[in-house]
Amino acid sequence: MIKHISHIGIAVKDLDQGIAFYEKLGLKLEAIEEVPSQKVKVAFFPCGDTRIELLSPTAEDSPVAKFIENKGEGIQHLAFAVDDLPAALSTVEADGIRLIDKEPRPGAHGADIAFLHPKSSLGVLIEFCKEKH
Ligand code: ZN
Repeated sequence: MIKHISHIGIAVKDLDQGIAFYEKLGLKLEAIEEVPSQKVKVAFFPCGDTRIELLSPTAEDSPVAKFIENKGEGIQHLAFAVDDLPAALSTVEADGIRLIDKEPRPGAHGADIAFLHPKSSLGVLIEFCKEKH
């Protein structure tokens, strides 16, 4: 069901500062995109089969703004690439795992995404992601 780690979402207050840091590590900025459904601006850095995704809030009620307020900057979610997102969601839900998103919704990078509930996943916010590339 899970193919690989699609991306690691990292919450930052200041996107430019975040980009500058990861460029210093030698990663190459691929794109910057705004995701209105999540109220975030996202910067992508490919890293093998996966990406580092820096997330900075565009509104005070953005989930990422709430995350930074509660926990500070840092790793916010882990995204697994799956082949069939609706099937993956119904499989884990049938196994008693709570979902935040029962239906896929549009995420960054043209992907369809859905989040599992962190209360069901040992404190890690897990995303399933059907990548478009
Ligand atoms: Zn994500």
